[in-house]
Amino acid sequence: MDSSLLKELQQIVGEQYALSDRASLAVYGYDSTPELESRPGVVLLPACRDEVIRIMGLCAAAGVSVTPRGSGTNLSGGSISHDQGVVIQTSRMNKIIEIDEENLTATVEPGVITSTLHRQVEARGLFYPPDPGSLHISTMGGNVAENSGGLRGLKYGVTADYVMGLETILANGDLLRTGGKVVKDVAGYNLNPLLVSSEGTLGIFTGITVKLIPKPQAKITMLAHFPAMSDAALAVSAIIAAKVIPATLEFLDKVTIKCVEDYAHVGLPLDVDAVLLIEVDGHPVVIAEEAAAVADICQKHRCSFFQTAKNNEEALKLATARRTALSALARLRPTTILEDATVPRSCIAAMLQVIQDAAKKYDVTIGTFGHAGDGNLHPTCLTDERNQDEIKRAHQAFEVIFDAAIAMGGTITGEHGVGLAKKKYLPRLVGESGVRVMRGIKKAFDPQGILNPGKVV
Ligand SMILES: Cc1cc2nc3c(=O)[nH]c(=O)nc-3n(C[C@H](O)[C@H](O)[C@H](O)COP(=O)(O)OP(=O)(O)OC[C@H]3O[C@@H](n4cnc5c(N)ncnc54)[C@H](O)[C@@H]3O)c2cc1C
Repeated sequence: MDSSLLKELQQIVGEQYALSDRASLAVYGYDSTPELESRPGVVLLPACRDEVIRIMGLCAAAGVSVTPRGSGTNLSGGSISHDQGVVIQTSRMNKIIEIDEENLTATVEPGVITSTLHRQVEARGLFYPPDPGSLHISTMGGNVAENSGGLRGLKYGVTADYVMGLETILANGDLLRTGGKVVKDVAGYNLNPLLVSSEGTLGIFTGITVKLIPKPQAKITMLAHFPAMSDAALAVSAIIAAKVIPATLEFLDKVTIKCVEDYAHVGLPLDVDAVLLIEVDGHPVVIAEEAAAVADICQKHRCSFFQTAKNNEEALKLATARRTALSALARLRPTTILEDATVPRSCIAAMLQVIQDAAKKYDVTIGTFGHAGDGNLHPTCLTDERNQDEIKRAHQAFEVIFDAAIAMGGTITGEHGVGLAKKKYLPRLVGESGVRVMRGIKKAFDPQGILNPGKVV
């Protein structure tokens, strides 16, 4: 990086918050995506919006690329910087600016950790539902940029359903305000949903206003064991068809169950094909009826055991089985490729078969878990990136899985984003015209192409 530009950037954030030593650059050269790395020129930790504006102004004038970064937990290479570019890391912008109980909104800086916001609003009897598995480490800025989902997505939706207002710094350093605290706003193009899931390619969020709802009064957590995977998949569709919408309807397959049990010792069965974790929440009377309906449906679909948590401690233990799935799988082999092929709920059984067949055909180990209620599955390949032949087979298996997801009317990613990792599959999903429109949008926001270059399109 040009030394005079580096000096000017250091002056903006202060020398200790401009990291350019080899060790820091190596650390920030990765995110949670396997097989991808780069070396940024400098990592800046601004304290406020004005510093981001000044950084963008300088970088735009110099034509230097900028990659925003929260905690680097994304799984699509979204925060891998362009070589020798600037990384803006938001951990110092971590204030909860306001919790507005009259308008039911919270306004935060982008570096706020998701579970910190959960705790603060829940202490006031309010609820911010989006809960990605990474909620204790990922940031609100990253969640918005990826439109993260979570275990409560089935009933409550994803991040996009809660973003009401954004303050975004554009590539040239201009400030763009979209939306706010009003529930109704149809003035001009609806830019919030466009910015949500823009993966750091259209602007840098410095302020985020989200909708809050009243905290559900009660919750019942259940776990059902299924000797046959197909029965678990059918039970998922039957629960929804019975007009019960659980907050959580999650699935673990046999490979994942074994890894979780070895790791977390929560008492999962090792002789079944699948378990479903189901949570219903809301008014105590209503959820008692819903829980009874769920138990009945699981039994009709040949579950071998059905457990209802008797207290919070037991509920937490059951939920841990799902929350630790990725960490448990990741212990088995050096490289974990976690994907999120997503299909209409009615196609879950067929998709699980495709995943099993692809793993067998290409001789790779794939464990699958995920948000069964959303049709959002996480086939996770346990491999070793030093074994190039195995990596090649893993990618061949995923190619089959993505093509099948598209053919079933699904998508290549339900929540992890396109980034670098899934860029090659995007044209297969959205077609030439889709790519053309997306490129046009990118150009309108960032004509020089300096914001997180090379990602998405
Ligand atoms: C164990 C584990 C479990 C996970 N579970 C889930 C899950 O259940 N659901 C789910 O959806 N995802 C999940 N993820 C993926 C990941 O945690 C999410 O994508 C998360 O939102 C990323 O947040 P982050 O702060 O780490 O962002 P980063 O990874 O740092 O960045 C993600 C993207 O956002 C952009 N970005 C970051 N901050 C800003 C900003 N202020 N302005 C503009 N762009 C910005 C970056 O450029 C990048 O493109 C999981 C990951 C792990 C490791």
